[in-house]
Amino acid sequence: MVVQVFGRSTGPAATRETARLAALEQIDMLDAPRDKGFDRIVRLIKEIFGVEIGLVTMIDAHRQWYLACSGFGNDEVPRQDTFCRYVIDDDEPLVVEDATRDARFAAHPAVADKEGVRFYAGVPIKTAEGQAVGTLCAIDRRPRSFGNRDLRILQELAAAAMDRIELLQFASTDGLTGALTRRAFRDQADQLVSAALMQGHDLSCIVLDVDYFKQVNDTYGHAVGDDVLRTVAAISKTTLGPDDLVGRLGGEEFAFVLPQTDQAAACEIAARLREAIEGRSTETAAGSLKITASLGITSLSIAAKNIETLLAQADAAMYKAKREGRNRCVAWNEMRSEFALSSRRRVLKAGAIIFNDRRSVIDCTVRALGSDGAGLSVSSSAGVPAEFVLAIRSDGLEMYCRVISQDRQHIEVAFA
Ligand code: GH3
Ligand code: MG
Ligand code: MG
Repeated sequence: MVVQVFGRSTGPAATRETARLAALEQIDMLDAPRDKGFDRIVRLIKEIFGVEIGLVTMIDAHRQWYLACSGFGNDEVPRQDTFCRYVIDDDEPLVVEDATRDARFAAHPAVADKEGVRFYAGVPIKTAEGQAVGTLCAIDRRPRSFGNRDLRILQELAAAAMDRIELLQFASTDGLTGALTRRAFRDQADQLVSAALMQGHDLSCIVLDVDYFKQVNDTYGHAVGDDVLRTVAAISKTTLGPDDLVGRLGGEEFAFVLPQTDQAAACEIAARLREAIEGRSTETAAGSLKITASLGITSLSIAAKNIETLLAQADAAMYKAKREGRNRCVAWNEMRSEFALSSRRRVLKAGAIIFNDRRSVIDCTVRALGSDGAGLSVSSSAGVPAEFVLAIRSDGLEMYCRVISQDRQHIEVAFA
């Protein structure tokens, strides 16, 4: 239920942010698999400027996500904690030669530390239409100066990063695993869904996410992580049929489309896939490693007639499998009563989670939206109450929400 419409937020900043998020959604790079082209750019940043840290990032409504990063440990940080948010908000480069002498940053936790950040230079990564979708930066733990020539070089590197993003839009297979890229998967899935609807055939969709994959990387290193991903893709291809689609949606998340397959048959295939993954060991220098995966399964129905809705349903089922302990399969039709996802579409909108008598606000990104609920991403779901008000300023909407499920960074809500 919409409880209050406070008018569309029409300020130039809000309008610009809405257009920026639309451009970000269009290029579809957030949470995309790692690409060595961006790693190379980061190496160049470090080499050219002699700095310790280089980043290529994408920034959505609530977080900064690293396309490539060297010198920092994280994969993402809350947007409000970043230096780069100034680059995005002001739509121009930012150079901070000594953060301890800059009132905006002197008290920042990353600066306060004796070994903390001192120098920062960041420039926007802009689309051909001029939308700043992310940033490219050089960061160091010592103060330094940065002249116009340096800034021009940094901007050239940002343009090279954008060129790489554009090139990746045309790739149809993922370099690491040979699975279809997100875009190619969606295009081919669209065609299979249309054909199934026209001919009245069944079609199912499975989403698979590797369990505790971050620990694999942290314990055994990225190269072993990559091996595991290759193995998961290979097992998927041999377990599925030759007409089925295998796509890599993100780092350790895969999706499959199975034409002419109903939900019961898809559940059997998913169960075989889960077992095959559990049964395989990857040999590493530190001994043999076993992994597991969680899977969500759904099928074409009156309520789900396009790949976006199928993916949203399979995703919700997969998150339920995670919640119930991982290493298991959950079918959408087992959980349909929990909430309907009938009209969901994928979106990328800035949202605010408001609670505590409107005294507390947590930024979020609205990832899926329907008439009865939404899927939200947050930097951390800790502290988010069971009920709150969700504001989507660009749409002038506020909704009372009840949390249906959540994990660390995802919250599914039903509108009250
Ligand atoms: P959960 O069981 O809840 O799914 O936990 P998780 O650790 O699998 O989930 P999380 O999303 O926290 O971690 C995913 C990790 O995948 C983080 C990221 O560094 C890593 N990753 C993403 N892409 C790649 C890649 O191409 N190669 C490697 N080795 N790691 C990747
Ligand atoms: Mg995972
Ligand atoms: Mg994942």
